[in-house]
Amino acid sequence: MKRILLSEKIKKAPPFLTIEPYLRAQDKPIASHPEAREPRLVPLVVIDYGSLAARIRQMRYIGRLLFGAVGEMWKSARSIRQNPYSGKKTIDPQTLAELEAYAKSLGIAEIGYTVVNPRYIFRGFHILFLNALVFTIEMDREKIRQAPSIPSFIEVFRTYYEVGVIVNKVADFLRQRGYNAHAGPAVGGDVNYIPVAIDAGLGISGKSGMLITRHSGPRVRLAAVYTDIENLPFSQENPHGWVRDYCETCNICIQKCPADAIYPVTRTLPDGGPAFIDHTKCAMPFSNDNGCTLCIKHCPFSVVEYDHLKTKFEMQS
Ligand code: SF4
Ligand code: SF4
Repeated sequence: MKRILLSEKIKKAPPFLTIEPYLRAQDKPIASHPEAREPRLVPLVVIDYGSLAARIRQMRYIGRLLFGAVGEMWKSARSIRQNPYSGKKTIDPQTLAELEAYAKSLGIAEIGYTVVNPRYIFRGFHILFLNALVFTIEMDREKIRQAPSIPSFIEVFRTYYEVGVIVNKVADFLRQRGYNAHAGPAVGGDVNYIPVAIDAGLGISGKSGMLITRHSGPRVRLAAVYTDIENLPFSQENPHGWVRDYCETCNICIQKCPADAIYPVTRTLPDGGPAFIDHTKCAMPFSNDNGCTLCIKHCPFSVVEYDHLKTKFEMQS
């Protein structure tokens, strides 16, 4: 008998964790493109593929962070009711600089700006505004070096939780200054953050599909704040294209993956977007062995500075 997988069946979080119950007459939510991808909810993958022993063991360590992340998801949904709708749609350089300094004081590594392509909103989901501030938070190098382990697993979920806290605080910062905002946390996000972060100029996806950034390589967690501010410094170009050429000479993540989950040649999905890994193969080690994370751990960009790799690569090319 075919096994019923919750992560295949359940594509949406419970309604109270989405913006729909909190919408007001003035809200005009933006729907996904008809060909948009369906989401994959990480907690359900762990339930589907993790053994009972692994689930019990892992929940001891990450339960508080996972429930905290869900709490932030709930806050991001219900707090859209606090949007002031004051009509303010431009931000002055000083306020933007204060916002960036505030986000960095909370632990953000890098910030990018873009207009979200509705193809990247997950099928059946909505966001309130298309203009986006995109954030990265770094996963600690030393903890990821120990992957797969309890410390690296805790680090993965620490960043899921903390970036959720941060985007809610940044959304509050904007609302207090008269702007509308919708916080998009890492767990239960409404969009596929990697292509959005690429459009924001923050990095590019490597062979493992992870975003490779200048600040922290692939050791990042992503989140966003959507707003109707119109004069954000939207990214005009992405300087990270060379990383794709680097990947062709590297392939370390493919060799280190215990599940042969990473495609040697990136595939193209029916929607035209890329598929880097077979998620059903990755799900087993991810769920049973402390989040696996070997592809991130062994990526040269996790351990060597981005600029150093770039200079060396350019000299060899
Ligand atoms: S997390 Fe592990 S199993 Fe999944 S793609 Fe990375 S190395 Fe492979
Ligand atoms: S390990 Fe190598 S091939 Fe894989 S993403 Fe990193 S640089 Fe690219």
